[in-house]
Amino acid sequence: MSDVYDLLILGGGPAGLTAAIYAARARLRFAVLELDGWGGGQISAALQVNNYPGLPGITGAELGECFRRQALDLGTEILCGEAAAITKEKSGFTVETSEGESFRAKVVIAALGASPAPLGIPGEDKAGVSYCAVCDGSFYAGKPVVVVGGGDAGVEDALYLANLCPRVTLLLRREVFRAAPSRVKLLESTENVTILRHTQPMEILGEDQVTGVRTVSGGVRGEIPCAGVFLAVGTRPQTDCLRGLPGLLDEEGYILSEESGRTVVPGLFAAGDARRKPLRQVTTAVADGANAATSAAAYLLTKR
Ligand code: NAP
Repeated sequence: MSDVYDLLILGGGPAGLTAAIYAARARLRFAVLELDGWGGGQISAALQVNNYPGLPGITGAELGECFRRQALDLGTEILCGEAAAITKEKSGFTVETSEGESFRAKVVIAALGASPAPLGIPGEDKAGVSYCAVCDGSFYAGKPVVVVGGGDAGVEDALYLANLCPRVTLLLRREVFRAAPSRVKLLESTENVTILRHTQPMEILGEDQVTGVRTVSGGVRGEIPCAGVFLAVGTRPQTDCLRGLPGLLDEEGYILSEESGRTVVPGLFAAGDARRKPLRQVTTAVADGANAATSAAAYLLTKR
């Protein structure tokens, strides 16, 4: 059991690291609890980020490292561990980790982020199914692949894979993309990319290793041979550790909070993709981190 922190930030993505930068400037005694003890978050896997103001075209890895470096330079302590359960006590919180450690803090910011959602079709557990093109794409160099999903993640994955693979087929379940139109335009003009609209994957085929995807399009069944399938069908919040706190989460597990980050649990603030909110981007995550840390510092002043 550690000493009591003023603030424990759960998650070291853009929201959590921005909260850390603000907490350092507010001179709080704080730490960031992060799964890999490194930080950077989901954005670190993005090939290119074109909508973060001031840094057009920066890679996700570079942007994640910039956040991490700035937080560390300001004295941020990054603890390695997975938050497994959070208990509200009279004067603060105890956070227990899956690794058996326990941390106490007067205030907690939940910046737990989101992880790729599964598709829920047969064959999804096969070798050759991936949720991250930047991480796994090189395994499929020279081989045909399928990408599922027309959000920013699916389009970026398809663009990345188009540089490595002879044929990339992107499956879109309706007519339009959710992704940024400029990137969709680039994808549409990429020679070795085929976009199949109104096409739903039904099963991932193969014995142990992926050999294809069974699809249905307007009632017509089809089959696309491929060596790898990249799923990019949205995300789900990583908020299981908060399930014991009544009234905090919505039915999908997103944290209900005000723009200030304040939640129904006094002393618990939320930031980033794990919040219920209309737009999940790095820009909105960093804004959330700033708001939550400022609210947390103000809350601590009322408890003096
Ligand atoms: P997303 O924007 O929710 O897009 C998910 C895509 O998957 C949509 O095309 C959706 O179709 C499709 N889909 C969902 N369930 C499906 C199913 N069962 N079968 C087939 N298709 C299905 O998710 P995302 O691309 O992971 O992005 C999540 C958030 O991160 C977004 O806010 C995004 O902007 C952000 N992000 C940003 C960047 C960047 O800025 N560089 C990169 C990656 C992600 P429908 O449209 O029909 O629902």
